[in-house]
This record gives sequence, structure tokens and C-alpha cells, in this order.
Amino acid sequence: MLDYHLHLWPHGQRDEAPTLDQVAAYCERATAAGVSEIALTEHLFRFRQADRLLGGFWADEPDTALRESMRRYWDDHARADLDAYVSCVQSAQAAGLPVVLGLEVDYYRGRMQEVGDLLAGYPFDVLLGSVHWLGTWRFDDLADPVSLDGWRSRDVEAAWSQYAGAVEELAATGTCDVLAHPDLIKVAGHHPAAPEECWERLVEAAVSSAMAAELSSAGWRKPAAEAYPAPGLLERFVRRGVPLTTASDAHRLVEVADRSSDLAAQLGALGVTTLRGYRQRRPYEVPSTAPVVRSC
Ligand SMILES: [Zn+2]
Ligand SMILES: [Zn+2]
Repeated sequence: MLDYHLHLWPHGQRDEAPTLDQVAAYCERATAAGVSEIALTEHLFRFRQADRLLGGFWADEPDTALRESMRRYWDDHARADLDAYVSCVQSAQAAGLPVVLGLEVDYYRGRMQEVGDLLAGYPFDVLLGSVHWLGTWRFDDLADPVSLDGWRSRDVEAAWSQYAGAVEELAATGTCDVLAHPDLIKVAGHHPAAPEECWERLVEAAVSSAMAAELSSAGWRKPAAEAYPAPGLLERFVRRGVPLTTASDAHRLVEVADRSSDLAAQLGALGVTTLRGYRQRRPYEVPSTAPVVRSC
């Protein structure tokens, strides 16, 4: 098993300088849960380098509340130094820890070439592609009243369709390797009458871009109350031969490798025997054997 989606800092908490001890603790917890390799995948928008490139992307949002909410959120997050993050993970690798260098990258319409140029200057092993925002609406920020309000004023079918469109566009840019939490749009527990049409679009986006898809336990910790992707979507990914990673999307140590054995059980039921790992953006196969839980 893998845990290929990990953050160092919870939302709402300012970054602190990443340390080797912090990464070592993540590895220790993951290993104890039977995870053979982790990827640190902090959000791109956590870094000052992203602020210099993308800060103010919300400026033409006509809705004042959404615009201000995004400005505050961004200002709260874009504080860390990407170079320090990269060198911390490299130090962990040099110390022999089973960690690869990753990043979680949002979709910035019309700006992905510049994003790709920035990221090409760093030795990333794996890049996750994510859609958390539709325009400036942070549909998965359930702690923010303005974002939550968006669910009351929008049509669920339209939101799902818009989400699938953003994933299609992100995948087509070829910027990232793995489609993170593929059906994140269900986060708040809102589902269309027939999700299959949207699922087909997500599967096609992965197939046509040769991206892997992530099986994440994070959905179990949200109102959606099921893994990302939903069982029916996971089954479609598998049927179409889309490679898979597994992930917790932990934002703190106690969540690392969360419900790894439940993810393994889902994979086992579908006959999946291999996962996809990455080194320097090149894929390789990892056995998806059930985790052996050890006490530590
Ligand atoms: Zn995410
Ligand atoms: Zn994440």
C-alpha cells in the first residue's frame, strides 16, 4: 500500500518550517500501518512562490463575498517557502526514509503553462491534480460560511457537471500525474440523481490523459461518508485500466495511513493487485498487498 497524499499543516494553521523529525514520524506511522512508501504533497497554494505567480487570480470574480473569501483564504495559506519544503523532503530521502517529493496542484484556468514552468524547476516525483474550487467557489471548504452558502444557492446537477468540466480541463493540460480525490464534489453529501454521466467523464479524463486515479480514505472523514471515489466510480476506473494510488490526505500525523486496511479491502474485492508509484514523474508498479498492521 501507499499513502500518496499527505500534508504537513492543517488548514487554519500557519505553516511552520518542515523538519526531518516530522517527516520521519509520518513514515513511522505509515510503515506501522503496512504502507511501504509515502508522498508528501503539500498544496501549491501554501507557498510564496505560488503567490508570486498566481496571487490575485480571483480579482475578476464579480461576487464580492466569494472574492473576499478567496483573498483571505489565499493570504492565510501562501506563506511557506517551496525551496525549504523541497530540501526537507530531499533530506528525508537522503536519510533513507521511504518518502517521495510531491505537490498537490489546483486547476488555474488559462495559467497551467506557467504553473508547469514553475514546477519544472523542482525535482518532483509526483504531482497530484485537484479541483477544490469552481472559479472562486471553494466547494469543499465546509468551515467557511461563504463557501457553504454556495451549496444553498447552486443546483447540484450543475455543480457536478461544472466540476467534471474542470477536471477534464485540468487533465488535458498534462500538468499532473494523479487525479486526487476524483469525486471530491460529493464532499458535502450532495449527489445528482444519476452520477454515472459525471463518472464517465471523470474516467475518460483519466484515460485520455494517462493519469492515475487516487483511492482516498479522506471522504470517510467528511459528510460524503465514503471513500473517494465512490464504489461505482472506482469500479469504472478499474474496468478501464486506470492505474491507482492509495492515500489518506492526512493534514496531521494522526491521520497518516488512515483506514489503509479498508482501502486494501476495496481493492482486493475488485481484484486489483498493483498500485502505481512515481519517481521523478516516472511511474512504476507497487504491490497492493493488504497492510500488515504492527504495533509501535
Ligand atoms: Zn485536495
Ligand atoms: Zn490534499
